[in-house]
Amino acid sequence: MSKVNLKEPKVVIREVRLGSITGFEGTACKLVQCSRSGKLKDSVRSFSQCMGCSSLNAFCQLSMITDAAVINHAPVGCSGDFFTFNFVYRVGQMERNLPPAMGRYFNTNIEEKDTIFGATQKLEETIREVFCRIRTEAIFITTSCASGIIGDDVEAVANHLSQELGIPVVACFCEGFRSKIWTTGFDSAYHSIVRKIVKPPQKKSNKVNIINFWGSHVFDELLEKLGYEAEYIVPFSTVSQLERISEAAATIEVCPTLGTYLGAALEQIYGVPEIKSPPAYGLAGTDNWMRELGRVLDREAEIENIIKQEHEKVLPQIEKYRSKLKGKTAYITAGAAHGHALISLLKDLGLEVRGAAIFHHDPVYDNGDVTSDVLAHSVDTYGDVENYSVCSKQAYELVNILNRVKPDIMIARHGGITLWGAKFGIPTLLVGDEQFSFGYQGILNYAERILETLDNREFVTNLAKHSTMPYTKWWLEQDPFSFLGVNERVEFY
Ligand code: SF4
Repeated sequence: MSKVNLKEPKVVIREVRLGSITGFEGTACKLVQCSRSGKLKDSVRSFSQCMGCSSLNAFCQLSMITDAAVINHAPVGCSGDFFTFNFVYRVGQMERNLPPAMGRYFNTNIEEKDTIFGATQKLEETIREVFCRIRTEAIFITTSCASGIIGDDVEAVANHLSQELGIPVVACFCEGFRSKIWTTGFDSAYHSIVRKIVKPPQKKSNKVNIINFWGSHVFDELLEKLGYEAEYIVPFSTVSQLERISEAAATIEVCPTLGTYLGAALEQIYGVPEIKSPPAYGLAGTDNWMRELGRVLDREAEIENIIKQEHEKVLPQIEKYRSKLKGKTAYITAGAAHGHALISLLKDLGLEVRGAAIFHHDPVYDNGDVTSDVLAHSVDTYGDVENYSVCSKQAYELVNILNRVKPDIMIARHGGITLWGAKFGIPTLLVGDEQFSFGYQGILNYAERILETLDNREFVTNLAKHSTMPYTKWWLEQDPFSFLGVNERVEFY
């Protein structure tokens, strides 16, 4: 178990804290074995096309706190992600019937001369200007490669301005160069929230924290039946709501890759129990998760009743979907944990999962509990997955693998990846809402979307006919892992 240390302004990166990796090729079973035996080694690429940045992941959690502002202490180019989150924020407001509001995002515009003379003065002036323009309840400062390299003392500025303005001004250290694993940015955002926003509990509440992105509110009904109330965090929360998450009865994570650090921090520091079962995807996964929820909330009998009723309702429908999907093949590319959970879901529906390219791998989560391991649960329950790789969104590898595997359907978690399926004429499904496939109803939801996608094959067939491929025949005939260091590949003992 990793120890959360709130005295440190910076979160320890995932490579060091959890032993996480971004390079592996083999099978899912081998990856689980290596993770369990402490023999997991990152395989380095000698060629890399692009990667994500922790700053974006930190921003994705901080940018939708409804009464806070975010200042990106960076060259202006690092703020290229602002528009995406402003869009997501507005769409989320409409879905939740919230009044329209723009995101309050700012950038300090670090320029060349600032990298010589320092940019803390600029940061101080920006914080004062932001507070003067919009009286927010908190201001978060996200750092960048530039501010990190020149060594700006952002923590000192944040502490000084907190005193001056009388609101939390919080430094979130998420420089892109600190970690190859961009999900470290989630941890940075949560570290800053737990360190400077969350207050010690005054009383216990009947709320259950749901660490999620901005997904649908699928937990309301279930928790109400159990006498609890869902508290969706962090997007669309207010600062005062976040102050009180230490009083919750439990914490649910829609994806352990997202919530591992916050779930563990709330349990370690404030005793809020974390639901440690893999998330509720697929039948067996949902049963396990429900039972763990019942155990933690002391509602075991009620949960058994719900499981019985839900099985009666969904099993006949799942059988119908299984008969339609039997023999269909699938390939998955997604972030860790969510991608693992989707493997279980697809196998439950009778699809043959021919392979997966998962963006990174955490051999353990912050709670140190092996029962939380989503990939291990999938392998133990549904068997191995061949052609399993850990791939930090390297399109050249993915294209080469797709050309060999040629699945009936590709499941992609991130928008920019779906085009590769289409270029090969492979129907590709993208579901942005993680909660869409959560629980018993989620199995049916996903099955329906898969059938719709398969029915639309003609669209991608035509697209493939008229599109060009930037990769040559030469590359498509090479080993897809030609650039994954041969001497550094994961060793099996
Ligand atoms: S913080 Fe670094 S990696 Fe991230 S966008 Fe800025 S320069 Fe790129």
